[in-house]
Amino acid sequence: MDVLGRGMIDLRLEGAFTPARTDAFKAAAARWDALLDTSFPVLETSLGPLSGLRIEARVAPLDGPEGVLGQAGPTLLHPGDERPVAGIMEFDSADLGRLEAEGSLSDVILHEMGHVLGFGTLFARRGLVEGSGGLDPRFTGAAAGREWHALEGADGAGAPLANTGGAGTREGHWRELVLGDELLTGFLSGASRPISRLSLAAFEDLGYRVDYARADPYRLPDFRALVLMGVVEAVRSCELCRVLRPIPRVVGEG
Ligand SMILES: [Zn+2]
Repeated sequence: MDVLGRGMIDLRLEGAFTPARTDAFKAAAARWDALLDTSFPVLETSLGPLSGLRIEARVAPLDGPEGVLGQAGPTLLHPGDERPVAGIMEFDSADLGRLEAEGSLSDVILHEMGHVLGFGTLFARRGLVEGSGGLDPRFTGAAAGREWHALEGADGAGAPLANTGGAGTREGHWRELVLGDELLTGFLSGASRPISRLSLAAFEDLGYRVDYARADPYRLPDFRALVLMGVVEAVRSCELCRVLRPIPRVVGEG
């Protein structure tokens, strides 16, 4: 798609950014820029005029190792279609060092940037969740329904959302025990974390233009593959659950 890959995500980095951390954020922004279009006609906001998603990223000491990893999510939404026009990603420097040592920093940043773009953070607001609070919550967007059907033709419902975990995990991710190593499940399992057509479809349902040709190859894992990815129980320690979500407001309101 012609307009994608132009670098519309406007990253502002502040704090303890080593070259490696700067590179990880830039790589994540470049990846999402290639997959979807965050641009919009110039809009006056409390942050000044914006024409693409502004992400303010900070690394600072918060509460030491463990505890809260940080916060990530949209902070300002477009008054037209309520796509994010600004968001924050804030990480505890103590936890970030450990993630770097474990080799998971790049995927955590890519995953959390997905939440800043609206994945999981705007689903309920947009009325895209069916069966909320129950055993089998589903994503109701039409594009994702089409892609889910292509992956799992026998299941006539929408794509399955996480049905375990606390607020921020439950219904804010694809369901780990079904989708396995996909980047936007609630856990980083497996050796690589593909961004599937299904995830791009969810972004299309949120109002983005997306480039399906750039999605990663992805198939639903069978049970053996899930076990080999380390997905063996529904509830376990979750790095990605320890991130706070800001409550976004619409530009011009409140
Ligand atoms: Zn997440």
